[in-house]
Amino acid sequence: MSVQHTRQVGVIGYPISHSISPIFQQAAFDQLGLAIRYERWETPPDQLATRISGIRAGDGLGANVTVPHKETVVPLLDNIDELALRIGAVNTIVNRQGVLSGYNTDARGFIRACHTDGNLELKNKRVLILGAGGAARAVAFGLLDEAVKSLTVCNRTQARAEALAEALIHDAYAAPTEITVLPWGSDSGKPEIIVNTTNIGMAGGENSDASPLDPLQMEPGMVVCDLVYNPVETRLIKLAKEAGAQVLTGLPMLIYQGAASFEIWTGREAPINVMFNATKHLL
Ligand code: NAP
Repeated sequence: MSVQHTRQVGVIGYPISHSISPIFQQAAFDQLGLAIRYERWETPPDQLATRISGIRAGDGLGANVTVPHKETVVPLLDNIDELALRIGAVNTIVNRQGVLSGYNTDARGFIRACHTDGNLELKNKRVLILGAGGAARAVAFGLLDEAVKSLTVCNRTQARAEALAEALIHDAYAAPTEITVLPWGSDSGKPEIIVNTTNIGMAGGENSDASPLDPLQMEPGMVVCDLVYNPVETRLIKLAKEAGAQVLTGLPMLIYQGAASFEIWTGREAPINVMFNATKHLL
């Protein structure tokens, strides 16, 4: 009887104890009977290069990458997928015989959540993005490719919003979409879709019970999406429901970005229901 050799995948971040990716990814590997172990690889910034060299030299299958390494990991890899290059951030690495390729599955995860769980038609919609960090970049480029009518970026640090807007304007695919920047705290202008990509509302943070948006800015007919998934029902989501808006929580995106990583590593279709079920008791 031959014993299957177990390969490793890990999530690289700092800190990393909060990550729930190991739980739903391991459930998916086990469901398909794959000899893969998903680990937490806590990695301070000064050890990132060593971590990446270790993956290249070993026989690990790859990794997920999270805060604060999604952007700094890019120059350490051998190939970068086109969408990840446009976004400027990588959240998935695959090791193919010592050659490391980087992908970004956050954009795909968000768009799939909009279509599948939000039942949203994105084309020609007016969208406001709150935040301009790594997740905002992925969401913005994903929406650009869906040909939304306009994208407005609103971030506490305005220079960061302006840098994202510049990148979107100069992107080769940008033609049909109008890009603008709105100062933080301004009237939202009542867009059709609002996406929170800031950390506000996240459990364990300073602003865990806060909302990035005043309830008066939300109304029926609007869709409010929150990328924060812990808790699933954030203050923003509660206020949006009270205002009569449609809501989309961060959980479906979390699962779909993970499913896309799973498919890159294994070449197999991810068992989505198993991944959702594995998170049920956690959030
Ligand atoms: P990041 O690059 O560190 O960006 C954080 C963003 O939040 C920045 O725009 C920052 O504004 C803003 N922010 C933080 N604290 C704020 C405050 N007190 N007031 C106003 N703005 C504040 O992080 P990220 O990778 O983009 O992730 C952001 C969030 O998205 C996290 O909660 C993360 O868990 C979530 N996320 C969810 C998924 C999913 O699958 N559901 C995927 C990726 C990320 P400044 O620029 O002014 O600092």
